[in-house]
Amino acid sequence: MLKKAPLRRASCAIILLLAIGGRAALAADQTCASPARFGPTTVGARPAPFTDARDYRAVFQQCHDAAGRARLATRRFVLGETKLLLTVDPATLETSVEAEACWTCADTTDAAQGDTRFIKAIDVAARASGVTPAKHPDYLRNAGLAHGAGEGAFITGDLCPSSRPLDRSFLAALTSPGGSTPVALSISGLWLAHHGEDFQWLREQARTGALAITWVNHSYHHPYAPGRPLAENFLLEPGVDMRAEVFDTERLLLANGETPSVFFRFPGLISNAAQMETLREDHLIALGADAWLVFSPPLRPGDIVLVHPNGNEPDGLRRFARLRASGALRGPFRPLAQAPQ
Ligand SMILES: [Zn+2]
Repeated sequence: MLKKAPLRRASCAIILLLAIGGRAALAADQTCASPARFGPTTVGARPAPFTDARDYRAVFQQCHDAAGRARLATRRFVLGETKLLLTVDPATLETSVEAEACWTCADTTDAAQGDTRFIKAIDVAARASGVTPAKHPDYLRNAGLAHGAGEGAFITGDLCPSSRPLDRSFLAALTSPGGSTPVALSISGLWLAHHGEDFQWLREQARTGALAITWVNHSYHHPYAPGRPLAENFLLEPGVDMRAEVFDTERLLLANGETPSVFFRFPGLISNAAQMETLREDHLIALGADAWLVFSPPLRPGDIVLVHPNGNEPDGLRRFARLRASGALRGPFRPLAQAPQ
């Protein structure tokens, strides 16, 4: 059932075809709502493939809409029949998907946007080279934003590929009566592709307001070879297509109805200067960590705390629970977009 949107100035129609359970298509239309309503091309336990987000490319444009809102667009793509933009608010760093037809955009540059919090945060993260081991100047460890501004803590959970189920009890325990506990989940494409039901459970936690999830890109394949030197491991494995690892994960999130944030976390926190530069060019903030809890570091205000709720690190989750119960890990837990200065 298709409905024609009214033909009037400054209005447009977005029609997304949603195949419900593989059956008949449902059409929805709207008039330049911001953010745009967009949804997975299929609904169910099996995630939509990343290829559903088509014609995907990086852009950098300054955009405004008829209501006077301003955004920077960083990606263009097509979902269903609709041309969409992935945009960022340059002050809050919040991302949103917008209908391209509802916005007026013009190319811009990093220099022209250099005074924005967005570009400053990208530059600071790109310059933060982390640890360069003396014997291995060819790779970086924990480069990027590794400590947050202000009080409290930034809880980040990595969803590296895993054959184990999501540790839902850990995430459920994060929720509080006030609701919308912020948590950043670094999601790998292979985790999402193989954990459709867990992904839908996470979306439900966000929809009901239990959790406020920031989706961090953790690469699509998240390569890892136990025992291999770090300079040739994780995304530094020979043959890795860094840009495809970044974009295909974004596309997978978008094809499944979620909005990628401006953050990217390197698998193993291992990178090199060239990959850091790729992130900068693609307007992403490299995300490190202060505290990989399983290694028991001291805690400070503004810590970016790293845990693995993917079933692979139960010791870290138990330690998290103990630190929280003892008061050593104090809130408030804050949205990751507040972590950069
Ligand atoms: Zn990982």
